[in-house]
Amino acid sequence: MPQFEHHYADQLPGFYTALKPTPLKGARLLYHSESLAQELGLDESLFGAGHREYWCGEKFFPGMLPVAQVYSGHQFGVWAGQLGDGRGILLGEQVLPGGKRFDWHLKGAGLTPYSRMGDGRAVLRSVVREFLASEALHHLSIPTTRALTITTSDEPVFREQPERGAMLIRVAESHIRFGHFEHFYYRKQPEQVKQLADYVIAHHWPELLESEPVESVRYQRWFTEVVGRTASLMAQWQSVGFAHGVMNTDNMSILGLTIDYGPFGFLDDYQPGYICNHSDHQGRYSYDNQPAVAYWNLHRLAQTLSGLMTTEQLQTALGEYESVLMKVYGTLMRGKLGFFTENKQDNDLLTGLLSLMAKEGRDFTQTFRLLSQTEQQQASSPLRDEFIDRAAFDSWYQSYRQRLLTEEVADSTRQDAMKQCNPRIVLRNYLAQQAIERAEKDDISALTQLHQALRDPYSDAKQYDPMAALPPDWGKHLEISCSS
Ligand code: AMP
Ligand code: MG
Repeated sequence: MPQFEHHYADQLPGFYTALKPTPLKGARLLYHSESLAQELGLDESLFGAGHREYWCGEKFFPGMLPVAQVYSGHQFGVWAGQLGDGRGILLGEQVLPGGKRFDWHLKGAGLTPYSRMGDGRAVLRSVVREFLASEALHHLSIPTTRALTITTSDEPVFREQPERGAMLIRVAESHIRFGHFEHFYYRKQPEQVKQLADYVIAHHWPELLESEPVESVRYQRWFTEVVGRTASLMAQWQSVGFAHGVMNTDNMSILGLTIDYGPFGFLDDYQPGYICNHSDHQGRYSYDNQPAVAYWNLHRLAQTLSGLMTTEQLQTALGEYESVLMKVYGTLMRGKLGFFTENKQDNDLLTGLLSLMAKEGRDFTQTFRLLSQTEQQQASSPLRDEFIDRAAFDSWYQSYRQRLLTEEVADSTRQDAMKQCNPRIVLRNYLAQQAIERAEKDDISALTQLHQALRDPYSDAKQYDPMAALPPDWGKHLEISCSS
């Protein structure tokens, strides 16, 4: 049996309401991540008959103490007041033999004091999407919450239409959000803001406690870390064409994890202004706006920390954002282009390619994957036939090839490196949709297959792989429901 502690509940009274999940009728385990289970030291037998209740919020492992966390936040740029876990329950923190701790959080667990107008539930569609997306990002080496189990049920949950109620066990080093800090700051409880900062530092940056005895300097170093992690996360999202869709401050992890998957989308055609959230009429959370929005969100967090540091300290920390973002983004995009060295013209080459892709609506993932096959001595590119404006492409390609030739790196070496930066497969909406439709009929074959493929996004397919192909026309224009 896994062992649990509940530091959050013990050390942060007033930051939650203790309550148990409300079970779903006919709840059963539909699917679990064997690989995550292994990483967490969980025996496969735990997922067999006889343990059903643990995954459905009906029984608890030793040491669990279920609580709903309270937080607030800015939604679409506007102060929204108290939010909190409206349908999720923090079950406890699993302690691994090495001492690492992981929150287990049950999403779709029923009403809580923070449910507001909601029903406290999640539908199978959104649970499958979160499961697959968090696995996809994790295997693209992007910081994210993970997903352990999907449970389904016979209980209807009403969205635009009746759907199947479901639950997800989400696993993360922490579920603390920017919104936790905002909650206590705007309630004029500076002591609680300090308590929360100290808690986060003690649990997640313990080295700062030892190395930095001056409190305000310690807070500044910590906040600089939060700024850096957030900047780096944005660079990573952009590099794989991931749009989160709801970057409200309550969906921003203090650890810089991707959290709260809703109407997210991976780019098919490269459209910089891509909006995956259909309720986002202004495009606040469009793909190309994400780095700017994260910076805005960090300013909201900075405001809450104004009692712990001087304005100058906060500004110095925030000042790191752009340089980290550009540095990480530069490294990632140079990798995608196959450059081993840095050169002044690299940015022009990148924007040149991106603007060709935008003009012709080329597929983001497939374009970079195909570019990985470039042979520098060849005057023609594997990508050439993908573009209609051949002259524009040829002109770009000539400069690109000149740049490659300055490096004296063998084609095979560069191609291998590029493939590690340019995934063959991402979680396209239509792939998720196919897995969902089958899962709703209790058939997990497509889910299993897709999950397997997303766990190995970089290697070449052994045979024709429809999942790496361009989306079919119907799949490009799917209206993904934002209700989850
Ligand atoms: P989100 O932007 O989806 O992360 O959710 C914003 C807030 O709404 C959070 O406080 C959620 O817990 C809450 N929420 C979302 N869906 C539901 C639901 N079906 N029932 C209750 N609360 C919900
Ligand atoms: Mg949320």
